[in-house]
Amino acid sequence: MVKNIINEDKINKLLAESNQMNGKEIMEIITKSRECNGLTIEETAKLLNVTDKSLEKEIFDAARYVKEKIYGKRIVLFAPLYTSNECTNNCLYCGFRAANRELHRKTLSVDEIVNEAKNIEQQGHKRILLVCGEDKKKTHITHITDALAAIYANCDIRRINVNAAPMMVEEFKRLKEAGIGTYQLFQETYHRDTYKMMHPAGIKADYDWRLTALDRALEAGIDDLGIGALLGLYDYKFEVLAMLEHSEYLFNKYGVGPHTISVPRLRPAFGSALKETPYPISDMDFKKLVAILRLAVPYTGIILSTRESAALRDELLSLGVSQISAGSKTSPGGYGHEEEKSDQFYTTDHRTLNQMIKVICDSGYIPSFCTACYRRCRTGEHFMELARGGEIHEFCQPNAILTFKENLLDYASQEDIAKGEEIIKKALEEIEDQELKKATMEKLELIEKGQRDLYF
Ligand code: SAM
Ligand code: SF4
Repeated sequence: MVKNIINEDKINKLLAESNQMNGKEIMEIITKSRECNGLTIEETAKLLNVTDKSLEKEIFDAARYVKEKIYGKRIVLFAPLYTSNECTNNCLYCGFRAANRELHRKTLSVDEIVNEAKNIEQQGHKRILLVCGEDKKKTHITHITDALAAIYANCDIRRINVNAAPMMVEEFKRLKEAGIGTYQLFQETYHRDTYKMMHPAGIKADYDWRLTALDRALEAGIDDLGIGALLGLYDYKFEVLAMLEHSEYLFNKYGVGPHTISVPRLRPAFGSALKETPYPISDMDFKKLVAILRLAVPYTGIILSTRESAALRDELLSLGVSQISAGSKTSPGGYGHEEEKSDQFYTTDHRTLNQMIKVICDSGYIPSFCTACYRRCRTGEHFMELARGGEIHEFCQPNAILTFKENLLDYASQEDIAKGEEIIKKALEEIEDQELKKATMEKLELIEKGQRDLYF
């Protein structure tokens, strides 16, 4: 059993002890969080236990402040691409679980994967999250690396992140060679007993094999990593603190924390063995946990999927989320044609990428299709240094402007172009460094003339 990564006793004790905090102490923590240096696990536990309405408002205000200070106005967009729903595991909550005999199973061929990627690209996306079930015969490492190679070779998709089962070091090395962006893996629940209950069979039943996957990825040279917990399986406060423990462990051991934290909330799924959510989370608590994560780990991106409703997603844009998916399908081949009974779970926000772009603009944000960092090797420790020094923002804003400009020229209607140009103008004004502003304007001109994929 792997010890010292997640200390359940410590988390439980912290949550129990911080139940009765006074307002003054909470305000001190919130004030400290505005310095953008993050919070300790102890401080985070205290914020998680806040129920007072006026203090909750203070937490939201601070999250808005930190979010804007570090990330500016950009929201990065992506879409998932499911290559297979075949799976030998039996996670109780998932539509792909082996015991779901009624699911229509499919593993896409390389050509079919490229077709899906092209469909995603036609929406205007540049960034894909490749997802598949775990089946050693169907979704092995070659299935994934062949997919990456074919998409990069045949589409204008510039970054492929992967959410797939834990691998061995040698397999991670192949993923790295294939040009993976972020390797993302959700522990589902960090609570060992709940994990055991939810994963009764298959390779995934091994909690430690999953928990140590990111160690093996780092050993293989992948330093761009994403973590997450499937919220609703166990107490969300426990999961938030455990994610922070996991981050801290990685940072202390490798000098690199996770690049992103995802906050997937449990959804109904066709063929799920769970008739109800074991630990339901209200929308208010969900907003609170996102805002608190923003304060606790200000430099870690927060990813939000279409599992959440349109209204809640719109609200969360300002509370700390930095990346969102849009126009998503959760079945293999789903972008080409809808197949019944092949989805992993039911999504809630069904807006198209175009609709989402409009919402982002109307909320005063700028949509970003940027994929520059990993192509410029700004990952891992190097990324963290730039982020902590506040310099990453200098790249993000111009790159958001440039990629949004491309998107407008290639995919938008005349009316949307006019609106988008206004957003670009405003975003340009926000670039303080005059040299950088000039260089961005020069690149914008080149894009007008037909050049593409320009970035800093
Ligand atoms: N099969 C691999 C694994 O389990 O790690 C890779 C990807 S799995 C298809 C992607 C993620 O979907 C899981 O890690 C889980 O958190 C999430 N998921 C599964 N069932 C879900 C449900 N009913 N509602 C929301 N998210 C779900
Ligand atoms: Fe398979 Fe992943 Fe679904 Fe579990 S969550 S059944 S491993 S696809």
